[in-house]
Amino acid sequence: MSSVNTTSASPRAQALQAALNFPNVQVDRPISNTAPISDFFGSMTFGLAHMREKLPKDAYQSLLKTLEQGKKLPKETAEAIASAVKEWSVAKGVTHFCHWFQPMTGLTAEKHDAFITIQTSYHSELRVIERFTGSQLIQGEPDASSFPSGGMRSTFEARGYTTWDPSSPLFIIEDEAGKTLCVPTVFFGYHGQALDCKTPLLRSLESLNSEACDFLKLLGDVDVKRINATLGAEQEYFLIDRNFVALRPDLIMTGRTLLGGSSPRGQQLEDHYFGSIPTRVKKYMQEVEYELFKLGIPAKTRHNEVAPSQFELAPIFEDVNISADHNTLSMEVLKRIALKHNFVCLLHEKPFAGINGSGKHNNWSLSNDKGENLLEPGTTPHQNLRFLAVLSVVLKAVYENSAVLRASIASPGNDHRLGANEAPPAIISVFLGSMLEKICNEIEEGKSAQATDQQIIDLGVGKIPNISKDYTDRNRTSPFAFTGNKFEFRAVGSSSIVSIPMTILNSAVAFAFREASEKLRNLLKNKASRDEAVMELTRTYLKESKQVRFDGNGYSAEWREEAKRRGLPVLNSTAEALEVYKDEKATAFLSKTHVLSAEEIMSRYHISVERYVKTIDIEIETLLEMTQTLVIPAVEKQLNVLSTTQQHISSTSLKKHHQSRSHKLELVFDSILALHEDLTKLNDTVRNGHDETIKMQRLASEVQPLSVKLREACDQAEKLVADEFWPLPKYREMLFTNSLS
Ligand code: ADP
Ligand code: MG
Repeated sequence: MSSVNTTSASPRAQALQAALNFPNVQVDRPISNTAPISDFFGSMTFGLAHMREKLPKDAYQSLLKTLEQGKKLPKETAEAIASAVKEWSVAKGVTHFCHWFQPMTGLTAEKHDAFITIQTSYHSELRVIERFTGSQLIQGEPDASSFPSGGMRSTFEARGYTTWDPSSPLFIIEDEAGKTLCVPTVFFGYHGQALDCKTPLLRSLESLNSEACDFLKLLGDVDVKRINATLGAEQEYFLIDRNFVALRPDLIMTGRTLLGGSSPRGQQLEDHYFGSIPTRVKKYMQEVEYELFKLGIPAKTRHNEVAPSQFELAPIFEDVNISADHNTLSMEVLKRIALKHNFVCLLHEKPFAGINGSGKHNNWSLSNDKGENLLEPGTTPHQNLRFLAVLSVVLKAVYENSAVLRASIASPGNDHRLGANEAPPAIISVFLGSMLEKICNEIEEGKSAQATDQQIIDLGVGKIPNISKDYTDRNRTSPFAFTGNKFEFRAVGSSSIVSIPMTILNSAVAFAFREASEKLRNLLKNKASRDEAVMELTRTYLKESKQVRFDGNGYSAEWREEAKRRGLPVLNSTAEALEVYKDEKATAFLSKTHVLSAEEIMSRYHISVERYVKTIDIEIETLLEMTQTLVIPAVEKQLNVLSTTQQHISSTSLKKHHQSRSHKLELVFDSILALHEDLTKLNDTVRNGHDETIKMQRLASEVQPLSVKLREACDQAEKLVADEFWPLPKYREMLFTNSLS
């Protein structure tokens, strides 16, 4: 049989053919085809190791001081670093540099400058030389008025500044267009207002460090110098052939399918998760990983996810600040390399209805300057006591601030995912696993009221070191689960900037540490021993936060009711969740830890509302246009064929059956036209409103539900219209063609 005749075939048939004839992309290992990863890992980054090697000794020492003590970087040091960085980059063929930052757009931003300056010689000859100065390294001044400030701009000058974050390595971004040196920076306004996602994250880490150190000193870790938060962000994504995406205005405009009937086969056979990876996809992953390795990103695990054409990339954990930069970079690399392999990488939380969406599990823990994990049950009674105390502080933090944590992961995309039968519900609860739950219950019951080291062992706490991660049970329905030696914040959406939920979590925990230190100081005054005082505090905190612990089925309807009875915030949608930012009491921990001022919190509220409104608006407009220009004409073609056929039928019985077939399609067509008209009207009314908050609420409560109805009608039509008339690539084609490669 010959292949499809691509000249007369429909665009959709051509796309299918092209997807099957995908290009054979050559993937070469960096350096040589036998080079081990360690030979090129980090080759495109300029971090501390390079600085030590390339900088004069005193400049390096002064940089360390800045990093360790937050001292201002002296001008000479900046010059020395800039000059070393320039030499290193130019030798690698870099021509431009940019300040790389994370404005509140949900994306990263960069403005490129060439490494050149003009020198005028003695004879007035112009000469171009490569130059990169200390001040170019340290500070930039992009036009802040083009980035969202959430209303903060009216109260200050429109100026914005980017300043180098020396704790994150410089890196080179390389593609076919050339090489650019990227300087990771924070972005802030004239009066120091944070205009980005990194500044608050750095502040939260500072606050966490100082509050946690205080607490640990009281606990007996007198020599503790630094506490870091660690993060390993597991990233889920879909890979769809570019030829299909090109024919889907919804995927191009919104990153998700606004239409599309589910295919007979979805994920019910449960055969995709951890299944063997198609070679075409493996080549893509391989190239992504090479790129990540060169950028010093420790990509570790790759596998198929639950839904067809869904995959996951998981790195080894790092300090939160670095890991957050690395996750953002990874998302960019995933998208860029996909195009080279003729794929589009979809990072949206719910690109396809009816099958799993994508999340980004944020594995989070705390470690001290000795590299000990504070959430790892230890081998000595003291380490166990510390583990339990820190655990109870984190539980308290999550319990008291669960509404703001919920708001930090709110987005229109995540609304489709949370609470569907795949992702945790929109109620923040914590799962500890049965063994730890039992230990916590025993502590609460006072079984260790007078606990000494010995009694703690009697209680079973001393056996905690035997809880290997492999023995802790899993609960996939929990948004915040303890997994042996870390918490996994599973409710975070796949497209989100992790700095935002991490900032809120760090800050909540920092505040809880502060309160815990106060309480512990008082207890220490009255109690006989430190261990007793610590146990008392732990017991109180476990009791006070008990309502947030839940080990049942988070998907169940009963949990919703139960959560309400427990007084936990049940915030079903973004529209509900964002309102929390207006509640000064709920957000007080953010200003008290100096992570976000009241003004900065409100600016984030305004930006989130605006983004919500714009996102839904784009989705509705796209849906209306697709219905009008793609779906309706396809149905009309089919009706035309039906009516012609009708004229040629003489058998009465056939006529009857055929009429009922036409009738079915006519009914669907009628709903499509009616719903299209209703949705157009409603959307216009809502759009013309002036209050953004009301707009958001109406979009969520009126416009969205109506759009779902229109979608359903269109999806019914898809099942009744001839395959050759249907212009949009179908779910089965987009999701299952990879398995043919
Ligand atoms: P699991 O089987 O629980 O998913 P893995 O060992 O596969 O655990 O780790 C999942 C993710 O958690 C990885 O990205 C890993 O680097 C990260 N992780 C492990 N330990 C920590 C930690 N102490 N802090 C933060 N993230 C961690
Ligand atoms: Mg996991």
